[in-house]
Amino acid sequence: MSEPERIRFCLECGEAMPYDDASCPACGASQPDSVAAPARELRPCRLCSEEYDAARLFCPRCGAERRAPPVLPLPAHVPPAGSEGRLPMLAAVLTLLGPLVLLAAVLAAYART
Ligand SMILES: [Zn+2]
Ligand SMILES: [Zn+2]
Repeated sequence: MSEPERIRFCLECGEAMPYDDASCPACGASQPDSVAAPARELRPCRLCSEEYDAARLFCPRCGAERRAPPVLPLPAHVPPAGSEGRLPMLAAVLTLLGPLVLLAAVLAAYART
């Protein structure tokens, strides 16, 4: 069983040519390497940190599915000093008030019937 021949098209004349050839057999124009070998982006696995092709859905090492974007060790956006502490407080208040408002609405509905 032979593998099907892969072809690509000349950037100069558009002629079909063997995928792995560096130059076009029809016009002789050299083909950029980027066409023959597109740069592959490696992304670390979110579980085992193994770096593998970003196009792959499963880690070849641990088999974890790549759903969430990998966490990159980039410096996180740091809020300016001063606003720190207030936002978590606001979030906590909203988290506490949310169920209370819901409860009040439910009680009000019950009281009416
Ligand atoms: Zn050509
Ligand atoms: Zn993995």
